[in-house]
Amino acid sequence: MNFHSTRDTNKTKYTAAQVIIKGLADDGGLFVPESIPTLSLSEIGSFCDLDYPTLAATILSKLLTDYTYGELLEDCNGAYSLASFPDGACPLVRVYGNTYSLELWHGPTCAFKDMALQLMPRLLLRALSKEGESRTALILVATSGDTGKAALEGYKNIDQIKISVFYPKNGVSTIQQLQMATQEGENVNVCAVNGNFDDIQSEVKNIFSSSDISSKLEEMGYFLSSANSINFGRLAPQIVYYFKSYCDLLKNKEITLGDKINVCVPTGNFGNILAAYVAKLMGLPIATLICASNSNNILTDFLNTGRYDRNREFHLTISPSMDILISSNLERLLYFISGADATATWMKSLNQNGYYQVDENTLTEISKSFCGYCADETQTKQTIGKYFHDYNYLIDTHTAVAFSALDQYREKTGDNTPCVVASTANPYKFAKDVYNALTGIDSSEGFDSLTALSNETLAPIPDPLSKLRDKKTIFTSVCDKNTMADEIFEFLKK
Ligand SMILES: *Cc1c(COP(=O)(O)O)cnc(C)c1O
Repeated sequence: MNFHSTRDTNKTKYTAAQVIIKGLADDGGLFVPESIPTLSLSEIGSFCDLDYPTLAATILSKLLTDYTYGELLEDCNGAYSLASFPDGACPLVRVYGNTYSLELWHGPTCAFKDMALQLMPRLLLRALSKEGESRTALILVATSGDTGKAALEGYKNIDQIKISVFYPKNGVSTIQQLQMATQEGENVNVCAVNGNFDDIQSEVKNIFSSSDISSKLEEMGYFLSSANSINFGRLAPQIVYYFKSYCDLLKNKEITLGDKINVCVPTGNFGNILAAYVAKLMGLPIATLICASNSNNILTDFLNTGRYDRNREFHLTISPSMDILISSNLERLLYFISGADATATWMKSLNQNGYYQVDENTLTEISKSFCGYCADETQTKQTIGKYFHDYNYLIDTHTAVAFSALDQYREKTGDNTPCVVASTANPYKFAKDVYNALTGIDSSEGFDSLTALSNETLAPIPDPLSKLRDKKTIFTSVCDKNTMADEIFEFLKK
């Protein structure tokens, strides 16, 4: 299986290993597989007998064909071990009726990004040796909170890799900030930036495309690579858990093989929901993908009108990992629906004018699989209260946006197809806002909020968060958008 850029009409070929090393294509596009492998229903049914690492290796081996099944199995066994995921990789919980929560946050950092980032460093290390690469990979991460910590945990203390993480100074929760500032490891750097996530992500893109910076890095023995969900190595592992959730429904006799399900995903960069779409293209019986947004509802508008317009106010919300106005992975969807030529044109318009409008056919095609709903802050909080009081199910602020979207979708369409909701963070990761949603009371930031929430709900505080209390703060630097490159070179000189 070869890969090429979403913007390249000549379809220059890359292997999976090259794609995982490069992250972003030279023309600014994202890498996509040249075709999507499809699975028969009976094959999907047979997945029910596999444990999670074996399922992951089986599915990934169809996409990353320059890795052997044995290599993938070894890496998946390492990534999804009981040491990292003590409760199993991603339990499916029945919330009520035919409504299920796919809990993707049982990994070391309590957010769904562990599902990909525990595996990706292993795939990258293998890619370096497959490609005979002797330079050190510098992983550059722009994070709205969860990616940063998950990437730091995944890449820490790995030979031939260094990692530098940037996050918006006022755009992450206290717990998220503590998780990153206390990160241990020989090869890691963390820096806060005066700006929002989009500022940081666009500067990271600038650094990636600067030939000055890359030649300076080259002289020092480094090259840039990315862990953001623009990297296909990050996307691929996320496809797996949608198959797993379907198998769980089959095993529990909630559905029979071939029945369609809906999937509802709280969305920021469009990575997680795009992975569900790829699962659908591969043959998983998914009817509708419900794209859930917070007050930064650019995707809701896009799915309703076909116009993607980032010229709008940016909101800081209680679901900060979704505070995004440029959902990079949407580009992959545009490519799958309309090809490289159209995608390149729209992305050029987005860069130059801050918007693009897709044609009627494209919008119709997209609407066959996707619909978009959004929840403002009040709706998000009400949903946390409702799910806790009515179903005794405690959810975080991001997951609440998704459940609100699902409720709105069902109300509007009357479609009561079984639905899997991607639950993307442990509620304690956003304890202050979850507590406030339940009680109307403002707790203090940080650990007090953990205690307050646990007193209120009696839900156990996850270990990785309660242990933060004894950790030493290591990283305190703050930089501006235009000094991020300097910060990187300072780090490499150490
Ligand atoms: C990253 C993140 C999201 C958004 O996922 P995308 O793949 O960027 O759409 C949602 N919820 C949480 C908790 C996250 O960390």
